[in-house]
Amino acid sequence: MGYAIAAAALAKKHNVTLISGPACIAPPRGAEIISITTAEELYGAVHRSLRCCDVLVMCAAVSDYKPATASARKLKKKKSAFALRFVPTRDILASLPKRRRYLVIGFAAETHDLEINAQKKLRAKNCDAIVANDVSRSEIGMESDENEVTIFFRDGEIKKISRARKKIIARELVKIIAKMWEKSLTKKSW
Ligand code: C5P
Repeated sequence: MGYAIAAAALAKKHNVTLISGPACIAPPRGAEIISITTAEELYGAVHRSLRCCDVLVMCAAVSDYKPATASARKLKKKKSAFALRFVPTRDILASLPKRRRYLVIGFAAETHDLEINAQKKLRAKNCDAIVANDVSRSEIGMESDENEVTIFFRDGEIKKISRARKKIIARELVKIIAKMWEKSLTKKSW
């Protein structure tokens, strides 16, 4: 979804910085690419990129946990069971300043109670809008070329984009975000 949104934004002549983990598809041409592999690297890359940003779209499915320790050497097999200890990663969206000059669009990947969970994340992570998708369905969302999303806005508005190819959903999202940006410029909140 991230690559599709980047491509749709580039097609509308926006400058795009695409911060991406390893992917099996080619990034769209024309974007500035920043490659990362860990949630910690993503945190740093996002914060550095905010200096010249009008809109941040956070559609990365960032891991909520990371292993507490890493071994430089191969762990030898033992007969007994063993457990790995995980610690929380830093929440990038939640770490953004409350007063800011850019729009923040979050994503919510949900398997159940989509609206309740998305609305909770919208507020907890202080987003201007959150794009929710149902990842329990194999025909849409992750690992699929299609998606179906519902957008929850800070002012209570809700918009649904019916099932379509990610390319089409991305174009629609870029249109909606551009309108949000125009509207925000007319407000005197900054
Ligand atoms: O994975 P989940 O649906 O909970 O993610 C919600 C939003 O929070 C997404 O926009 C995701 O990119 C962001 N996130 C984050 N930092 C994390 C985990 C998720 O900014 N550590």
